[in-house]
Formats: sequence, C-alpha cells, structure tokens
Amino acid sequence: MKVAFFDRDGTIIEDYPDHEWTSIMHPVFIDGAINTLKEVISKGYKVIIVTNQYIINEGYITLEQYHNISDQIIRELKIHDIDVLDVFYCPHAKNEGCQCMKPRNGMIQQAIEKYPNIKLKESFMIGDSAVDIELAIRMKIKGFGIGVGAGYEDDNIVQLKNISELVQYI
Ligand SMILES: [Mg+2]
Ligand SMILES: [Zn+2]
Repeated sequence: MKVAFFDRDGTIIEDYPDHEWTSIMHPVFIDGAINTLKEVISKGYKVIIVTNQYIINEGYITLEQYHNISDQIIRELKIHDIDVLDVFYCPHAKNEGCQCMKPRNGMIQQAIEKYPNIKLKESFMIGDSAVDIELAIRMKIKGFGIGVGAGYEDDNIVQLKNISELVQYI
C-alpha cells in the first residue's frame, strides 16, 4: 500500500495562531485541497493525516474540540468521496519530549505498526511546515513542502507554491 501522508493545518484546512484555535468551531478547507486529495486517491494512494496538535496539551483547545474539528473534516471529505484511511495526532505539549511530534517520526511509526503493508518507498509526506519536510527526510521518503522546502540538499524534497501543484509530481 502506498500512502500519502498529509499534514492537516495549513495544508488541508486553514491554520491559525494557537490562541485563535480556541474559538474555531468549523474547519475551512484550503483552495485546491479537496481536488488534490481526489487526484491522490485516483493515483492509488491511501491518505493518512499526521498532525501536531500540541494546542491540546498546551490548553488552547480541549480534546473534544480536536475531535469535533477532525470529525467535521472527515465527514466533509466523505461527501466528496474522499476516504481518509486514518488520522494520527500528537496531543503533547512541546515540552513533553514525546516521540510523535513532527519532525519526530512517531506518528509514521504508529501508522506502519497499524498497517504493516505500507510501502514507504512509494509513499510521500506533504505539508506546509519545516517539520513536515524534516520528517520526510528522516523517513527517507519523498517530501513536498507547500511554501517550504527550499534550501534542503535532498533530492527527495520538492517545494510547491500551493497544494494543487502536487498532482504534477505523483
Ligand atoms: Mg501545517
Ligand atoms: Zn506527541
């Protein structure tokens, strides 16, 4: 199974400063995200979301708020025939030193344990933060940076201007 590992905030839906997340009740999809996810699935990838949510343990949102937003995303994508295979999230505060906060690879390890048939060599990571690129480099998989990724001396890293550019590369 080849997997497209997607960052969530700033990649699929709009991101906000931490304190603004406290009052966000509904996800806002980023232009091009839904079509890109469709294209990715049509090319045979399964979609797994890997998202840092330190705003949970740092007290900006409750776990319930997290699940509420996440469920809305999954439901909206389903309406567009997009099945997300799984979502892995890191709830830990930055000072907890967990192994799952990107760029650490704990969430991808969790995914591999749960789905041993993942073929990492055929998989990729896409996100809008340096941590997403660094995770791709760590896992030695293809990495797409939306607005990030310049300056990495790694042939596996491609910088995109926006999410819609992804389809040219997969
Ligand atoms: Mg992001
Ligand atoms: Zn964590």
